[in-house]
Amino acid sequence: MSQQPTEHVQCLIIGSGPAGYTAAIYAARADLKPVMITGMQPGGQLTTTTEVENYPGYPQGTQGPEMMEDFRKQAERFGTDIRFGYVTSVDFIGPVHKVVVDETTTITADTVIIATGASAKWLGLDSEQKYNGFGVSACAVCDGFFFKGQDVAIVGAGDTAAEEATYLAKLCRKVYMIVRRDEFRASKAMQHRVLNTPNIEIIYNSETQEIVGNGQTVSGIRIMNNESKEERTLDVTGFFVAIGHKPNTDVFKGWLNMDESGYIVTVPGSTRTNVDGVFAAGDVQDHIYRQAVTSAGSGCMAALDAERYLAAKEHVA
Ligand code: NDP
Repeated sequence: MSQQPTEHVQCLIIGSGPAGYTAAIYAARADLKPVMITGMQPGGQLTTTTEVENYPGYPQGTQGPEMMEDFRKQAERFGTDIRFGYVTSVDFIGPVHKVVVDETTTITADTVIIATGASAKWLGLDSEQKYNGFGVSACAVCDGFFFKGQDVAIVGAGDTAAEEATYLAKLCRKVYMIVRRDEFRASKAMQHRVLNTPNIEIIYNSETQEIVGNGQTVSGIRIMNNESKEERTLDVTGFFVAIGHKPNTDVFKGWLNMDESGYIVTVPGSTRTNVDGVFAAGDVQDHIYRQAVTSAGSGCMAALDAERYLAAKEHVA
């Protein structure tokens, strides 16, 4: 049987969230003829949200899935070749980067832009899934506004939970913070902020059992004290999960420098990784801002970095 020839591209983009699509728009307009491998969830995290009101350019707001459709159409309009697939292995040893898709198809690329994002960690409750986007959220900055003047709960005790609880406290009437141990993981400074915010009530040693609602909206959560096993219901209309994110970088382990949580490390002020010609953009390299607009911005940076890298290589050759 004859072997299929390996396809070679100038620019391969892995991931199809705001970072990936923005990189595609820029790379396509720069004539790099980008090929994009979407991943299992085309459009990324925003396809699991409803209203997006904080992305500039949409004065009336938009729906997350619709926004990602707009991103896709714009990337396609300039000729991005978008393919549904999942990257199963890479080989970044030589100057030409090898990427295997769905364990079967090998593509080689002069430049690779990694925009595989991060996934929010969830508690794993059925009711959490049921109300995701309808009262349950993993992003206070994205969705807190919808609960203005209302009572909400947030679960988690790290820096993210502390930061998001104080953010929510500015918008909401009351914020219950559900902490599973008798102490925080967050830095002292962040803890201090939470403890000094009068409308945050911390409930220690407690875990969420269920999100309660009418099938369409949330009306409360049932929590249990880990020690006494006593259960109680808190009347809240919003439930925020802030128990950490996991960057989608498993496939790049051993090739790229990462921090202790697995986020790809980039050279400050750029999207360059430790491998020449491999760039990282969006949440896969950012555990701090994690916004669609900051991801899109770094996707643009990655395409410009890739373009400049190719131009410099051509100049040397
Ligand atoms: P972390 O991993 O630091 O904290 C996760 C928190 O969620 C912990 O308190 C953990 O509890 C709790 N948790 C985990 N699983 C569950 C569960 N099933 N039920 C209840 N609670 C659970 O994640 P963060 O997102 O907070 O932070 C990630 C990194 O980003 C950290 O290094 C942090 O310092 C950094 N960061 C920095 C910021 C800043 O500097 N401004 C802002 C935000 C994040 P437990 O403690 O019991 O394990």
